[in-house]
Amino acid sequence: MVKRSVGQVANRPHNASTGRIEIVSYDLIVIGSGPGGYSAAIRAGQYGLKTALVEKQARLGGTCLLVGCIPTKALLQTADVWQRFVHCDQEGIRCENPRLDYPKVKERKDSIVGKHSKGVEMLLKRAKVERIAGYATLRGGGKVEVTSEAGAQTLDARNIIVATGSEARMLPGLAPDPEFILSNVEILNLTAVPKSLVIIGAGAVGVEFASIFKRFGADVTVIEMLPRVVPVEDEDVSKELERCFRKQKIRVETGARAENIRKTGSGVALALTTRDAKREELEAEKLLVAVGRKPNTEAIGLENTRARLDRGFILVDAHQQTAEPGVYAIGDVVAGTPQLAHVATREGMIAVAHMAGKPAVPINRNRIPGCTYTEPGIGSVGLTEAQARAQGRAIKVGRFPFAGNSRATILGHHEGFVKVVADERYGEILGVHIIGPEGYELIAEAVAAMEAEATVDTMMQAIHAHPTLYEAVGEAFNAVYGLAINA
Ligand SMILES: Cc1cc2nc3c(=O)[nH]c(=O)nc-3n(C[C@H](O)[C@H](O)[C@H](O)COP(=O)(O)OP(=O)(O)OC[C@H]3O[C@@H](n4cnc5c(N)ncnc54)[C@H](O)[C@@H]3O)c2cc1C
Repeated sequence: MVKRSVGQVANRPHNASTGRIEIVSYDLIVIGSGPGGYSAAIRAGQYGLKTALVEKQARLGGTCLLVGCIPTKALLQTADVWQRFVHCDQEGIRCENPRLDYPKVKERKDSIVGKHSKGVEMLLKRAKVERIAGYATLRGGGKVEVTSEAGAQTLDARNIIVATGSEARMLPGLAPDPEFILSNVEILNLTAVPKSLVIIGAGAVGVEFASIFKRFGADVTVIEMLPRVVPVEDEDVSKELERCFRKQKIRVETGARAENIRKTGSGVALALTTRDAKREELEAEKLLVAVGRKPNTEAIGLENTRARLDRGFILVDAHQQTAEPGVYAIGDVVAGTPQLAHVATREGMIAVAHMAGKPAVPINRNRIPGCTYTEPGIGSVGLTEAQARAQGRAIKVGRFPFAGNSRATILGHHEGFVKVVADERYGEILGVHIIGPEGYELIAEAVAAMEAEATVDTMMQAIHAHPTLYEAVGEAFNAVYGLAINA
């Protein structure tokens, strides 16, 4: 580590004997310890770069680990187990009066988060990444100022990665509070299952919380302004999820508006205008706002650099470089790639490889899997049928229902299907869309196939073990040519 002495600046640590401030130089400073930032810092350590990671929160892991992917999936897992208890008589198991101990459910979720946050700390240490606690601000010219209760210090680096992530967008005039109007942060801190829950927004976050709390016994309403739930998915997937949600007695209002949202003292009230213009007053114990994520790019000193923004998101080139030399951006702050943990991680790998002079393959936006862990689960990659048609491609579509898959019947989850969108002429796989049991796991086969540039014919030859859920994926590839056996 190189230590440079420059003129003393008030409020910054300085060398007591010389009276001069010390600026510590690194090969790389990463700002933010989410899946983008911590993975990038570890990879930089593996490449032998002198690396520091700055995090403003006490715990490491970012949105994904602390208030996103991991705690929601922990709750979804328990919701699944609970449902199996409630309906265990179908499997010939008698279970008298099963009780849900929600504080214990929360405790388990919190301990999973705590364990993995410690794990990140350990991994950073092992990669010799220096952890610096505090709030980072870019000062231009490779400098990063870090402020904390201990004071302020200036770090300096050849490269900087901005991985400051995102936070929940709220509706105008609404602010989250721990009791009634909730974002993903507050809802994860509830200590009891609410009797009723209204969720505004039917993207991945909204529908996952609907799937959690409905199964835990809440009366759940989902309100979405757009015409369908999970609007980024293939239209058939949206239709199937909406159908399954209605069957599970989740009220779904698409093409609808929620207005005049207010706290009542014991809960929340709002005016709902449905798709067919009917107006209704709705009341619920809690309201979750899940209308998207705002990039954390506002107060981090980007104005001191030449980095350019598009509606708050940072513009980057194929190697994650911003317009400021040596400053990279990855993850939820980046314009043009989906806000997903695995995207943040991959972008971090690209940025670090590029700065270390290693081969860096730019991200292929068409090969990013998207997963939603509802019941039934969703996994998708590549073009939807509508997108492929809009591009004027001549396509063939293969579809196989889980109703024809014996493993799905054994598991008691046979809703949904696998849909393959393929190029008609050469059998190129353009997209795969799964909704059904463990759809979020099954999509891995399609991602690998597309990455290896396998065709539909190759995948028809791949032997799928029996009885497995992923036989349904094999059958869907066969269905492209009308050759599925079990449907
Ligand atoms: C409820 C929910 C569920 C989700 N589920 C999934 C899922 O199942 N799968 C999936 O792929 N994605 C999921 N996501 C999205 C995923 O969490 C994000 O895409 C991912 O966390 C983005 O990673 P990141 O590294 O860009 O930023 P983040 O994870 O947001 O981390 C950014 C970090 O930077 C820190 N920071 C910010 N500003 C500063 C500063 N100035 N100085 C120092 N530190 C700073 C923050 O404290 C934070 O720790 C979910 C999100 C939510 C909200």
